Amino acid sequence: MSAEAKLRERICHCGASLFRRGLTFGSTGNVSVSLPDGGWLMTPTNASLGELDPAELSRIDAGGRHVSGGKPTKEAFLHRVMYRERETCGAVVHLHSTHSVAVSCLHGLDPHDCLPPITAYYVMRVGRLPLVPYHPPGDESLALAVEKLANRHHAVLLANHGPVVAGTSLDTAMHATEELEETAKLFLLLRGSSIRPLDAGQVEELRRRFPS
Ligand SMILES: [Zn+2]
Repeated sequence: MSAEAKLRERICHCGASLFRRGLTFGSTGNVSVSLPDGGWLMTPTNASLGELDPAELSRIDAGGRHVSGGKPTKEAFLHRVMYRERETCGAVVHLHSTHSVAVSCLHGLDPHDCLPPITAYYVMRVGRLPLVPYHPPGDESLALAVEKLANRHHAVLLANHGPVVAGTSLDTAMHATEELEETAKLFLLLRGSSIRPLDAGQVEELRRRFPS
């Protein structure tokens, strides 16, 4: 099996796993992976991540042209800006996962860092999570807002919408997205309680030991 065929299978497997565990629903959410020739594979528009067909994934060439498979997701620009701004980006996951979206709708979030450092793994896999102000899905203004943050952050949270997470590989991007979703869930569970997050020294030590 060629490297591209393996990646196609892997995208479908990951999509089904996300769908089965309730991290995505309907035809929401999209996944992309970069290819050695500079192009990408991307989930097609209006497809359920639970029922992806390896042959129907959108193939985009290095110039950004759609060359085969289904039409790319209309949120493809969220992926493109991550690849353009982050040299090490190998994959991007964007979900409308419930707990992350719930957090993105709260008043009073720190726009530079939406979630407190509740656990070490959140700090290591997600780090600082900026909030991107609300823009309509598919609007060019949303691409520009994400572009401004993408070179400094591999994960961003779109207000009233959901997370966009880049990783060096599909597994890294998936794991970071899942860590973010679970941390959002913990944060909501703890709302109203007196939280004792990691202190600044503990966060600094993690960033030193595990630079992202
Ligand atoms: Zn979306």
